[in-house]
Amino acid sequence: MSLTITEECIYCDVCRPACPNKAISAGNEYYEIDSNLCTECIGHYDVPQCQQVCPVDCIPLLPEFAETKEKLWEKFVRITE
Ligand code: SF4
Ligand code: SF4
Repeated sequence: MSLTITEECIYCDVCRPACPNKAISAGNEYYEIDSNLCTECIGHYDVPQCQQVCPVDCIPLLPEFAETKEKLWEKFVRITE
């Protein structure tokens, strides 16, 4: 998973219900993404829904943690079994 939520998060809870994998939760200071559950929305949508809805654009892609489409698809299959 190469998406992360930064400290610019305003704790608005818009992203959490938009996630098809229930991968987002409220952390102590800002919201967090569970890397075991985030498929970058592969299997559900063409683009990451959390990025689409976040009002302050604080969910960047971190290329250094990129997973291949195949790995993301395998994760989707695993968590939907
Ligand atoms: S990219 Fe999709 S699966 Fe990952 S946290 Fe965002 S909404 Fe959830
Ligand atoms: S939508 Fe953006 S600002 Fe709102 S809780 Fe999610 S990451 Fe934080």
